[in-house]
Amino acid sequence: MAFSMAQLLAGKTAVVLGVANKWSIAYFIASAFVREGASLVLTYQGERQRQTVEEFGAELKAAKVINCDVTKQNELDNLVSQLRDAAPSIDAVVHSIAFANREELSRPFLETSREGYLLAQEVSAFSLVAVARALTPLMTNGGSITTLTYLGSTRVVQNYNVMGVAKAALEACVRYLAGDLGPKQIRVNAISAGPIKTVSARGIKDFSKVLEGVAAIAPLRRNTDPAEVADTAVFLASDLARGVTGNIVFVDSGFQIVGLGLSE
Ligand code: NAP
Repeated sequence: MAFSMAQLLAGKTAVVLGVANKWSIAYFIASAFVREGASLVLTYQGERQRQTVEEFGAELKAAKVINCDVTKQNELDNLVSQLRDAAPSIDAVVHSIAFANREELSRPFLETSREGYLLAQEVSAFSLVAVARALTPLMTNGGSITTLTYLGSTRVVQNYNVMGVAKAALEACVRYLAGDLGPKQIRVNAISAGPIKTVSARGIKDFSKVLEGVAAIAPLRRNTDPAEVADTAVFLASDLARGVTGNIVFVDSGFQIVGLGLSE
């Protein structure tokens, strides 16, 4: 079938944080952004990831690939100065970053350590504030900031534990940032993705059982495809979503509406 549709992100520059490997949700988002005509900047965390992400950058014709550990203010400052050189302005930011120690995702939540709690909050929630504060001065034409969250923010999901609490904070950060940045026509939203097999997800004990459970009872009777998350990220970064801010958009085969799932 021959049909054409205008590219939704033509003329826009997007910064995508959180590509670690080809399973990363951020990699699917970056690929979809390029398909829709965006010019791309990728960031990675530390030397260990540099070669992989530079290869993705070359494949996706990224304007720049920049090192940025979001817990380090000097690296955020360096990101800003490199972006000032590379792009006149930024239109879209995707924050696809989270971390918690593996032991916090297998023992009871009650056993959460002080250090583990603070680490999860810093990397997974405060980093959105830090990234927004660093990059919004470059968003001179308004634009969109999108982060990734999960249902464990509002429901008890076994073993998600400290990450659920961090996602609750992240979602509140989305709303407060949307409030602050709205007058500048900068929109802030989160995508709440259904479970997807990535390196981060493998850190959660019994993750494959979660995948099976969702596919059995979600309205669409299947798991979430990362490409579906990426297409929603395209929408949120595009002018089609110009009226949407402070939202949590579920891309989860409908799982979040189910009360008592009875699989057949
Ligand atoms: P992933 O590929 O492991 O991505 C997580 C990314 O966070 C990695 O690129 C990781 O880099 C980065 N990161 C961690 N600490 C960082 C730091 N201090 N500075 C900069 N980057 C840092 O896993 P993913 O599943 O795609 O996760 C992306 C986002 O989606 C996360 O927010 C996650 O919570 C969310 N999410 C995932 C699912 C799921 O089921 N997979 C569902 C809903 C939401 P390194 O690998 O180099 O540390």
